[in-house]
Amino acid sequence: MSLISRMGNGIMAESTDINLPRAHQARFPNRCVVCSHDNPASHVKLVTGTLGWWTWLLWCWGKPFIVQAPACRGCAWKLQAWRFINLFMTIAIALVAVWLVWPYFKDSVPRSLHALAMMGLALVCLLPQIVFEVFFARPFDVTAYSESVDYEFTSEDYAIDFAMLNLDAKHVKINGEIVQS
Ligand SMILES: [Zn+2]
Repeated sequence: MSLISRMGNGIMAESTDINLPRAHQARFPNRCVVCSHDNPASHVKLVTGTLGWWTWLLWCWGKPFIVQAPACRGCAWKLQAWRFINLFMTIAIALVAVWLVWPYFKDSVPRSLHALAMMGLALVCLLPQIVFEVFFARPFDVTAYSESVDYEFTSEDYAIDFAMLNLDAKHVKINGEIVQS
């Protein structure tokens, strides 16, 4: 997620983000997105929600965006498991916050602020996980916005090759800087 990788700038495991229009059919170098092995035998399919400021406020994800990238069979599996565990942890932590921790706070918060306080509490409980993600960035991830998509790579070489292959897109941004528009 680019907000998180931006927070992580200068710490470590910084990812290189390539931003392309959502409508653009992205082309990938013929290398595994996880281990950079040449000519991987299979693909990894990532499904992601559309991220906006409302994601945190409403706890819902917009129209799903699907991207298919080359990956070895083992790497594809590993990446999916990684994402699944992450999603599972997010949901589990949020539930724990709301069901187990919330009752202790409930009485000291005015009724009209309950919904807001609950979200804030869940967010605070999620902070350790966000920090974890900054330090252990996944080799490849996507964040979809309503008009564009961030393709995030921990390998800078791979990211640059990817950007070069997609120069025909309406715009190409590398870490927020426009290289093609
Ligand atoms: Zn691989």
